[in-house]
Amino acid sequence: MLNLKLKLKLILLPSPFPLFSKVATFNKTPLRILSLTTDFSPRNSSTTTMSINLRTHVFAGNPLHFKSHKNIDSLSPSSAFEALTARILGNSQPSPTPLNFKVLPFRNGKALASSAAGSGDSPPIWNLGWIGLDDLRGILGSSGAQLSAESLVYLGSEDDVVYWAIDVSSSEAVEFGARELSFVEVRTLMVASDWRDSQAMGNLAVAGHAKALLEWHNTSRFCGHCGAKAVPMEAGRRKQCSNDSCKKRIYPRVDPVAIMLVIDRENDRALLAKRSKFVPRLWTCLSGFTEAGESLEEAVRRETWEETGIEVGEVVYHSSQPWPVGPNSMPCQLMVGFFAYAKSFEIKVDREELEDAQWYSKEEVRKALTFDEYKQAQRSAAAKVEQMCKGVGKNQSLAADFNVGTQLNPMFVPGPFAIAHHLISSWAFADQNVVNGVGSNSKQPVSSI
Ligand SMILES: [Zn+2]
Repeated sequence: MLNLKLKLKLILLPSPFPLFSKVATFNKTPLRILSLTTDFSPRNSSTTTMSINLRTHVFAGNPLHFKSHKNIDSLSPSSAFEALTARILGNSQPSPTPLNFKVLPFRNGKALASSAAGSGDSPPIWNLGWIGLDDLRGILGSSGAQLSAESLVYLGSEDDVVYWAIDVSSSEAVEFGARELSFVEVRTLMVASDWRDSQAMGNLAVAGHAKALLEWHNTSRFCGHCGAKAVPMEAGRRKQCSNDSCKKRIYPRVDPVAIMLVIDRENDRALLAKRSKFVPRLWTCLSGFTEAGESLEEAVRRETWEETGIEVGEVVYHSSQPWPVGPNSMPCQLMVGFFAYAKSFEIKVDREELEDAQWYSKEEVRKALTFDEYKQAQRSAAAKVEQMCKGVGKNQSLAADFNVGTQLNPMFVPGPFAIAHHLISSWAFADQNVVNGVGSNSKQPVSSI
């Protein structure tokens, strides 16, 4: 299986990191390199609130990306596709380096997954439902479809294994013998994952990348310039217009979304919003798509002003997160996270965009970072994946993933799988880091991502 050890990365933050001074000051000292922390333990074990620190955001840190770049010279995506085609058609020549192929099927945006019992009291653990060549031949044969690069995309390679994703939405019922496999929403797999498990995080990144690429292929069938058919190139990593007089190159589109935690002048309160389309009690960061001709900083200021009437001054970058579980029409969103320092305090909520927006103190926000609720949501979603793989509960409501707390707090913020969580948590627990001796002059890690 995949070797999913994630590499520790470094990030750059301005110095002094503004969260660690009562009044944010921004001098011109050089950037300082901060290493990431791997501390998953609660800051204060006597309560249910905690600061959860991850090595990378969920959906980032794809282990196949890291591997593929090292091996790119030895096996290009195009030559891997030729080798796969030859093997499926049964006319491959003996190769000095025998290749193995693993394929991850998707159906209507859902990834094939399996589930295994957890150890002891732990919830079930899902895994990706990789299939081999025999199953792939069965799928292609049962639908009568020819093997085509239209629905098959290259994900990466590791040692002698080449990984692929295939869209089987147009195939008739797909059977995998006695194995307990089911097509599951990637968002459900996300909630079902233990965020401390690096293998689960690696699997999510692979599934997210595959889903984004396959959905991009579905929504970019024709050249936007001349209208001719767009054909996959480099084993599905890009496309090209089939019109010889055009030949426009088409790359997967990435849609940047600015997401910001707005903080008051005294660094005492943060602005959180409730969106009516989300579940009740859920308060989160403001966010919005970047417009053409606009910088990310401008998008932060414009969205904050439009949605809440708050004027933003300084904007400080935190981190970014690929988000392949948004609308199908936008499978490659990139969430770019910022701290935004408010110049005004009075809120005027745009009721078309938001249900409400309020300033919250650090104490209130810390109570909303409820570890127990995240664990319960994970347990519930993991049980659902297990039931789906066993063939029951297929029509259960996905909304149950997010609202399962038994001791309901008046509010909670998104779980550790979302960048919003880490923006909020970094701010809310910054003082505790200082108390623990991890301040702006320390070489200890201070950022959650
Ligand atoms: Zn064209």
